[in-house]
Amino acid sequence: MPTPISPWLRDSPGALFQLIRRVPLGMTRTEIGRQTHLSRTAVIQRLDALRSAGLVTEGGQLGAPSGRPAERYCVDRRRGVILVADLGAMGLTAAIADAAGTPKAVVQEMVDITDGPAAVLARVQARFDELLRGLHVDATRVLGIGVAVPGPVDHETGRTIDPPIMSGWHDHDIPGFFTDLFDCPVDVEKDTNAMVLGEHRAGRRDVDDMVLVKIGTGIGTGLLLRGELYRGADGAAGDIGHTPLTEDPDGPVCRCGNVGCVEAYAGGWALARDLAAATGRPCTVGDVVRAVRSGDATAIALVRRAGEIIGGAVADIVNMVNPRRVVFAGQLAALDELILATAREAIYRRSLPLATRNLQIVASSVPDAGVRGLAELVTDQTSSAAAIDALLA
Ligand SMILES: [Zn+2]
Repeated sequence: MPTPISPWLRDSPGALFQLIRRVPLGMTRTEIGRQTHLSRTAVIQRLDALRSAGLVTEGGQLGAPSGRPAERYCVDRRRGVILVADLGAMGLTAAIADAAGTPKAVVQEMVDITDGPAAVLARVQARFDELLRGLHVDATRVLGIGVAVPGPVDHETGRTIDPPIMSGWHDHDIPGFFTDLFDCPVDVEKDTNAMVLGEHRAGRRDVDDMVLVKIGTGIGTGLLLRGELYRGADGAAGDIGHTPLTEDPDGPVCRCGNVGCVEAYAGGWALARDLAAATGRPCTVGDVVRAVRSGDATAIALVRRAGEIIGGAVADIVNMVNPRRVVFAGQLAALDELILATAREAIYRRSLPLATRNLQIVASSVPDAGVRGLAELVTDQTSSAAAIDALLA
């Protein structure tokens, strides 16, 4: 008995667009008919509507061993562009992607997030203008914008809420800055959320339950559960950097104002603080990495201790959500022979055997995972069935 056609797929050209989106090489009319149970005439009408709106295009012919070659239909990547910017504590990465979310050009520059929203967002705008000029694209063809920030984001409003390392950014209307300049939706995400999605979509896509741990100036995580980003009820899920490691009132003060957070012992800024205290010279996170690489015993001991602490915090997540893969990213993850090895050992020691039986613990393998994840998030939004149906209405 043929599967009954879902009313949604029958009535929504946007739903048909979703089907085509999932197949990068495109689909023939026969394949679409087979999967949707739509009549040949209905398939042709839908494809015509999508094509006249510039949403799908012929993707070349599929050679058939017998009979006539069949035309394939794919997402039209020329429909417009997507602009994204991944802001870190000390730098930004911006990219322009096609309508399918594939980055076409990426630029980076140093910028201090504590310069505040007015100065930093002006830099992002300048990079966006440069990227548009580079591809000779007019600002009216921007379909959507994505921005990632190194702090907690209220996903409903796109505003950062009490971000420990982003002084001056609390409750700032980041989407409003861009909607004044561009007529398109703006998505603001916590940086690690964008990174874990980028790691998943641009990587092997072989694992649907994944935790990304960014160890840079601070410590943050992004959770991907069953292939979907998990933000929690308010957008604060997975913030292990600020779970208490000790209740000792004389413990180190964290940037969030509390005492004894994981980050106050093991974040890059805390390691720089401790190395500075040991050497009597001001230090940055980069100095810690360089000192470890040059064999400095103090720096090595500090990083090894940080790996142990981070591993213990990650073990809590492993026990809680049982991911298949833990991915380490960020400036300190570059010291994988030291920090990853120590963290890995702590995770195995402190997690249940069932939770670690098939667990993979690896360093990030996707360059610019943040901007890639952002481009995917914005594409999911601008190419959703509802957005396409609204466009065609
Ligand atoms: Zn804290």
